[in-house]
Amino acid sequence: MSSRTLRTPLLAWLAVLALVAVVAAGFALVGLSRIRAEAARPIAADVRMIRALHDLGDAMSRVRINAVKAAFSIDRNQRDEVDWQAVRSRARVDAAFASIKAILVEGHTSAAFLPTLEGRWQDYLKAQEALGPASLLGLRTEAAPLNEAIGRLNELVNVATSNPYGELVGTLSAVMRGVESGTTDRLAAADARLGLVILVLAATAAAIPVLSLGLGLFFVGRVTGPLAKVAASLERMAVGDATEPDGLSDDRREFGRIAAHLERLRTNMQHGQKSEAERRTLSQTSDWLQSAKSEEELCRMVSTVLSRLIPDCRGALYVYSGSRDTLDLAGSWNDAEGPETIHPDDCWGLRRGRLYVHGANPVEFRCSHVPDPAARHYCCLPILAHGETIGLLHLAHASADRCDAAAFAESRRLGILAAEHIALAIANMTLREQLRDQSIRDVLTGLYNRRYLLERGRSEVQRAQRLGATVSLLSVDVDHFKAFNDNFGHDAGDTVLRAVSEVLQRGSAPTGVACRFGGEEFLILMPGTAAPDAVAVAEMIRRDVEAMTIRYAESDLPRISVSIGVAAYPGSGRTLQEVMRVADATLYEAKRAGRNRVVLSADTLPAREDASAG
Ligand code: GH3
Ligand code: MG
Ligand code: MG
Repeated sequence: MSSRTLRTPLLAWLAVLALVAVVAAGFALVGLSRIRAEAARPIAADVRMIRALHDLGDAMSRVRINAVKAAFSIDRNQRDEVDWQAVRSRARVDAAFASIKAILVEGHTSAAFLPTLEGRWQDYLKAQEALGPASLLGLRTEAAPLNEAIGRLNELVNVATSNPYGELVGTLSAVMRGVESGTTDRLAAADARLGLVILVLAATAAAIPVLSLGLGLFFVGRVTGPLAKVAASLERMAVGDATEPDGLSDDRREFGRIAAHLERLRTNMQHGQKSEAERRTLSQTSDWLQSAKSEEELCRMVSTVLSRLIPDCRGALYVYSGSRDTLDLAGSWNDAEGPETIHPDDCWGLRRGRLYVHGANPVEFRCSHVPDPAARHYCCLPILAHGETIGLLHLAHASADRCDAAAFAESRRLGILAAEHIALAIANMTLREQLRDQSIRDVLTGLYNRRYLLERGRSEVQRAQRLGATVSLLSVDVDHFKAFNDNFGHDAGDTVLRAVSEVLQRGSAPTGVACRFGGEEFLILMPGTAAPDAVAVAEMIRRDVEAMTIRYAESDLPRISVSIGVAAYPGSGRTLQEVMRVADATLYEAKRAGRNRVVLSADTLPAREDASAG
């Protein structure tokens, strides 16, 4: 998953979040205005109350003015008009009181002032009525003195302005002031509350996008970034690349844990790849080792492979000698020093028949064949094949100063793996050599067989043709062997054949190749040997056989003799077959001449057509 694919939906989500926040803020503002309207309802009632009080005051003042007008009315008509207006004014006062009561019923304003106000109003009305509606008119008709009239007028006016009305006006004013001040306070409180709420809402509306943005940035920085790294790391691992770290190691919590697991996975993968590479190398090595033609070649291959596979270790490979009493150095690498031959008792690995590791235990003993006292970390690994110890692999850490037990343990692990392949290769080679030996050797005498002689003889003749050299051939036959068999038995005959074979083997060494051609007939191929020298060898063999005493069944067998015919390439023939035929013919010449003798063929070539037949 790339960071782009994760970032796009995240940003879209953030945009939606911001939009929702703005819409929510709008709805909140609308709701608030409704709240404000509801808060304003008692204030509106207060305003209506003030108006009603004004109406009441106005109506009361008209009542008073009508009283004054009535006092000054001169004729009856005028007086009736004023009385009528007075009735209307009182009705207005009653209506004002009714509307005040209606407003008070809503309960927004305290009704405490109402009884007082009504009381004052009743007091005023009583005082007004006590004066008499027609006082001044009566005085005029009675022609009362002016002073009395002015006094009554003054009284009348004073009634209007005297205590009852003054107290009424004072009470009304106080009520109005009270209502006004309550309204003002309520308005101020409502405004303050609303202002606070709007402030909080505005701050919330502003904080939501900021928080969303911060959240988005956090996600992009702490989630999508690390996720992209994890994805890239996994992609690399999926294609087998376990080299590059993912860079998440500093992150904590979930991504830190993911990074730790990835690291473990990568380490395992690296180990797996390393093991796979080692397995491949060892498998290839095994192929190479299996294809080695000789033990020397095999040991050279082992040296090359191990010097590269375990570069921080010196090493040596020892193989048991034919006598199996010592082990010979077959190969060494990385400047290893060690004896050419070691005795099995010199090595703790060989003595105990299993891997011996030096440098890993508090109590340990150094092998006698390890010369360097500074080589603290070394191991000796017996190489086993088919249940038999066939050699020893010795590995020592190259640097004594920087020797590291863990590193050497790793080298040792590789050495053990390699030793298995080496053992298998050596065992296979031994088996191959045994098989080959069995196919070219005679079982009874151990000499080469007829098949081998024919192959080897042809190649030697061809070689002699190229080089212009000589190849001599000795045809050997035991004299009167049938009679010997008949007299002493077949087993005694076999003993004679083995004894004669030893003489032939010894006599033809080192250049001659002795073989049993069949029955009691033998052939000795002598490459690079001229006929006179071959005759000398044949003579020596004849004498040795003649002089030989053979023990059988705790007694000596009668002496035996051999007859030998000698022929040579190119004098006796141009091909192996021709030379063999001549050697055979010469052997029979020796037989005819009385046996126990050596005859050299005459240097006459057979006819060309015969030669081509061979
Ligand atoms: P000559 O001097 O003319 O060579 O006489 P000979 O008796 O040696 O020759 P002949 O060919 O008649 O006899 C060869 C005998 O060799 C016959 C056979 O019994 C014997 N023989 C062949 N192979 C073996 C073998 O593997 N073991 C034994 N014990 N005898 C063998
Ligand atoms: Mg014979
Ligand atoms: Mg014979």
